[in-house]
Amino acid sequence: MPAGRWWHGASRRLILSFVLVLLVPAAAVVWLGVRLVDQDRALAARQLRERREAAADRVIASLQQAVAISERRLAGDPAAFPFQPDDDALLMTLDAQGIEIYPRHRLLFLPVLSHALNEPTVPFEAGEVLEFRAGDFAGAARAYRELASSRSQDVRAGALLRLARALRKSGRSDEALRAYSDLKEITDARVSGLPSDLVARRARCALLDELRRTGERTAEARALHADLIAARWPLDEGTFFSYSDQAARWAGLEPSLPRDRLGLSAAATWAWQEWTAAGRGELRSAGRRSRAFEGIDVTLLWQDSGDRATVLLAGPRFQAREWFSGAHVVTNAGGLLVALTDTDGRVVLGAQPANPLSAGERRLSAVTDLPWTVVVGSANEIADLEGLAGRRRLILVGLVLLVSMVIAAGYVMLRAVSRELTVAQLQSDFVSAVSHEFRTPLTSLRQFTDLLNDDPHAPSSKRQLYYQAQARATERLHRLVESLLDFGRMEAGARPYRLERHAAAPLVRRIAEEFQQEGFAAGFALELSLRDEGRIIDVDPDALTRAVWNLLDNAVKYSGSSRTVTLTLESSANAVLISVRDKGLGIPRHEHHEIFRKFVRGAASHAHGIKGTGIGLAMVRHIVESHGGTVRVDSTPGLGSTFTIELPAAAPGPDATVAAAPDNSGESRCLAS
Ligand code: ADP
Repeated sequence: MPAGRWWHGASRRLILSFVLVLLVPAAAVVWLGVRLVDQDRALAARQLRERREAAADRVIASLQQAVAISERRLAGDPAAFPFQPDDDALLMTLDAQGIEIYPRHRLLFLPVLSHALNEPTVPFEAGEVLEFRAGDFAGAARAYRELASSRSQDVRAGALLRLARALRKSGRSDEALRAYSDLKEITDARVSGLPSDLVARRARCALLDELRRTGERTAEARALHADLIAARWPLDEGTFFSYSDQAARWAGLEPSLPRDRLGLSAAATWAWQEWTAAGRGELRSAGRRSRAFEGIDVTLLWQDSGDRATVLLAGPRFQAREWFSGAHVVTNAGGLLVALTDTDGRVVLGAQPANPLSAGERRLSAVTDLPWTVVVGSANEIADLEGLAGRRRLILVGLVLLVSMVIAAGYVMLRAVSRELTVAQLQSDFVSAVSHEFRTPLTSLRQFTDLLNDDPHAPSSKRQLYYQAQARATERLHRLVESLLDFGRMEAGARPYRLERHAAAPLVRRIAEEFQQEGFAAGFALELSLRDEGRIIDVDPDALTRAVWNLLDNAVKYSGSSRTVTLTLESSANAVLISVRDKGLGIPRHEHHEIFRKFVRGAASHAHGIKGTGIGLAMVRHIVESHGGTVRVDSTPGLGSTFTIELPAAAPGPDATVAAAPDNSGESRCLAS
């Protein structure tokens, strides 16, 4: 059987069942691996979720505690509230009268003005008649000037404002400016519903602007603007913006206002509107709220006792200091990312996890009763995922290795089983071939024995022929048995080789002659070519004879229509080469190696129905290798084959006993034809 076709011996069913046996565990391993990876992923996700939940719980507890402390303080004295000088937070109490603010100056404008006073109008009637009806501005000014020294602040303020107006109308601008300056000094009176000093300062700026006294106007407008921003006067939103805009224009300033206080003012307005709305709006139901006002996050905590409410308005700085610092510590500890979002979903603290799908734990304010929604994600989500991916890669590599090992082990087993099957097949072929070999001489033996039995009086010449035929058959049987026994001994390693020192040429010639005499080369031209230089070899002559005979036998058997066989003896530096060449069927390349294995018969022997047992070349190799030599074949199908035995030449020593005298080198003889 050719080398590369080892699987030919294995039945298709065997291969199929092997593949199944391999595939089932391999598929099971893959399936288990996939499940392992899935479970690993689920486990990692659960651990991450649990960590987030625990972190969310901690953050919420910390926030609840901090907010509750601030809430408890709402009920106490506003003055004792732990504000810092430049805080962005304030307390506001709301009731039917209006609102109170602590600390007072943190709002740019108020939602409502609580102390609207009725200004006196009666004392000014006389002056106003002169001013408006008679157009007598000087007379009116005199009347107002008299009232300007009244005891009542409000009357004084109203009089100074009107005096300045009358003076302006009569073109006495400097006097008008002075009247405004006097009015400016009155700080707790109101004119036209507004603080008198505010009205006076604005009027001065307007007049200076009219008089094109730009330097003075700008300086006064700057001071006015600064005082407006410092919330020197309690103003409503409209008044504040119109005054501050105008002052900024005169002062040549960009109209910019402090954003945190703007946010707080807007938040206060919203709270007031909600509180006064029918059913108390949003302030009715919940005591905590976080929203953005003018782009500033303001958290409102309030307590409502029916007709009075106390509200804490807290900007980002206050929130961070009083509430978030604790939460921050907690969040950073676990390597988790905490974000707080307000009612509108804006991030108040922290950053949202980049991937919204893995936004993680989300606790709505409706559930926690905190002003914010708490979101806890994994700060090192990517690192977590990469760790997971690394583990998965490891599992997959392990799986691939496992599957490869299963397949490799299966392959090796399949190959071994297949080899065994092949050998079994070869052995069974051998048994049938041997039986065949035996049958032919046995049949002829029986035939000639029967003939002799049937005809005891046959002429002696005839009987002679029968006896000769019987002898040939017996000889053939004998050689067959001998060869099988020899093979058996070789297999068992029990064939001893008795090495003798021989001259190679005479030995080879004797082998050829005996082969010839035995009649194996009948009808063949056996050419002998002895071209050695008297080489000596250590050899078991019987064994070598068997080896060369096997080669000669094959050369005759596989010669096809050719009738020439050549036996050559050559020598190289330290070896002798015995070659047997025929011009017969030849051997395909892929069989060159395999035919030396026991029981292996080539395709040609089957194709041409040539008898044989497949042990001849195996014996040749065994014998030659036992002598420390090699055997090789060189063959081309259709052109013939040359088998060459290479044996190491013995160095001739003084004590060497050579069994026969070396023959002449270069002799070439034809022994038979
Ligand atoms: P057998 O001749 O009994 O089959 P061997 O071991 O002597 O067994 O030879 C093995 C095989 O090698 C043969 O079956 C044949 O195919 C091939 N072979 C051997 N010698 C020759 C040859 N001289 N020419 C062609 N094929 C040969």
